[in-house]
Amino acid sequence: VNQLEIRNLHARIVDGETILNGVNLVLPKGQVHAIMGPNGAGKSTLGKIIAGDPSYEITKGDILMDGESILEMEADERARKGLFLAFQYPVEVPGVSNANFLRLALQAKKGGEVNLTEFYSKLQKALETLEWDESILTRYLNDGFSGGEKKRNEIMHMMVLEPTYAIMDETDSGLDIDALKVVAKGVNAMRGPNFGALLITHYQRLLNYIVPDMVHVMIDGRIVTSGGPELAMKLEEQGYEWVKELAVSN
Ligand code: ADP
Ligand code: MG
Ligand code: MG
Repeated sequence: VNQLEIRNLHARIVDGETILNGVNLVLPKGQVHAIMGPNGAGKSTLGKIIAGDPSYEITKGDILMDGESILEMEADERARKGLFLAFQYPVEVPGVSNANFLRLALQAKKGGEVNLTEFYSKLQKALETLEWDESILTRYLNDGFSGGEKKRNEIMHMMVLEPTYAIMDETDSGLDIDALKVVAKGVNAMRGPNFGALLITHYQRLLNYIVPDMVHVMIDGRIVTSGGPELAMKLEEQGYEWVKELAVSN
């Protein structure tokens, strides 16, 4: 089974409030799905739980990657298995250049030495797609990066690490339209039979440039409705009120 499956997932803050109330979602490898929903719906919490954030506990359900439960795996093991979490990136790594950090991350993922020629050719290709200058490689990771540079850099790392499944939370926030287009170009370049992505977003804007195979709407910690890209358009036009009513009547 080539898919990332979230199966009846219930979760709460450790010793605290319940946030997820039975999330069901299947992301087949080769597809891009969007999760939309109003503020506070639990979208970011879902992303963090997939990443293995220890501040939440799963009370019921499972998360399976290609048929294997990842719940007992540490975050780095999940990454080795091919999961990439854009938002989980280190805030700043002083003293480590961007390229070196990425090389070490790739080495950790592969569990062995990285072929440097291959590595640099992947880097070049990613920079070209992202319309970016090489000077970004020698800067310390995220040190003094603008918000847009950080987002673009996350996408560059994703392109080089070639994950099987990527989760991106609010990748569009704080980007101007040109940066948004470039980020979308990177994600679209990754699309193919060996790559699946979950785009978590509050707004429809990003989905004009990365057209998803499916859109899921989360309200109060559950997916209440799913559909094609037209669902995102409807949300943009009509807001979330009608889905909230759907959530209550379900
Ligand atoms: P979204 O990303 O959809 O806006 P979040 O997942 O960020 O929603 O948050 C869902 C709800 O859970 C919010 O009410 C938020 O305040 C609460 N929440 C999430 N994580 C924590 C936490 N670590 N501590 C306290 N409240 C939290
Ligand atoms: Mg929020
Ligand atoms: Mg959020």
